[in-house]
Amino acid sequence: MLKRLICMMVVVSFVIGLAAVASADRLEEIKERGTLICGVKDAVVPFGFVDEKTNQIVGFDVDMCDYIAKDIGVKPELKPVTSATRIPMVSQGSIDLAIATMTHKFERDDVIDFSITYFMDGQKILVAKDGDVKSVADLAGKKVGTAKGSTSEKNIKDAQPDCTVISFEGYPQAFLALKQGKVAAVTTDSTILLGLKNSDENPDNWVIAGDFISAEPYGIGLPENESNFRDEVNLALNKMWKSGDYEKIYNKWFGKDSKYYLPLDWKMELWP
Ligand code: GLU
Repeated sequence: MLKRLICMMVVVSFVIGLAAVASADRLEEIKERGTLICGVKDAVVPFGFVDEKTNQIVGFDVDMCDYIAKDIGVKPELKPVTSATRIPMVSQGSIDLAIATMTHKFERDDVIDFSITYFMDGQKILVAKDGDVKSVADLAGKKVGTAKGSTSEKNIKDAQPDCTVISFEGYPQAFLALKQGKVAAVTTDSTILLGLKNSDENPDNWVIAGDFISAEPYGIGLPENESNFRDEVNLALNKMWKSGDYEKIYNKWFGKDSKYYLPLDWKMELWP
């Protein structure tokens, strides 16, 4: 009898233990672990790139990661992602979130969730200054380079159905193809193009041409159905904006005195 009772107690405590594990949400997991694992780009200036002096990944998205980790009370940990790997890495759980120049779109919302908008840009083209491409219209019959898994691939085809899109692993490879004359333009969000242009020895050889062909509001990619974690991230973004810390970080990378000037002409969605 006693044996049976002990056996039942063991089973009951096992079931309670299992339930506790199942209910531990991602935010609790992060707090217990003591680190927030952020997926960031490592070759996209000025969002996420390797600082040659320190060999560390730095950039605007990295500063966003640092702020959110601090707000949660844990240490930031960075893992490099590409445009193609960031969504699978969030959905498989190898990163807690992706702060990686990612436009939030409903078609990307099937397997992950998104935060509110934390950065706003739009798509343009980067071309040789002395070349014959001055606008998207001139790309008819020409090759255009961009990154695999980006919104840029589809947007350029919508804007210029007569171009051929060549997708590379990342933007530096697409820019190299432009320099080698293998593509007539590189296309993606304007500040990423500005980062490419200014990373060249002769930035004046390149121009960011034409009008915006799309709106690209960036969201932080989050695991599906983790509402406590999503609330925490959105709250941290709200705090960051209201305290003026967002503007400080923004101006550090995109302000008038930076190499990547982009006027801050939008407002974050603030919750009262
Ligand atoms: N923001 C666009 C996107 O999410 C282009 C930049 C990128 O490839 O990360 O796809």
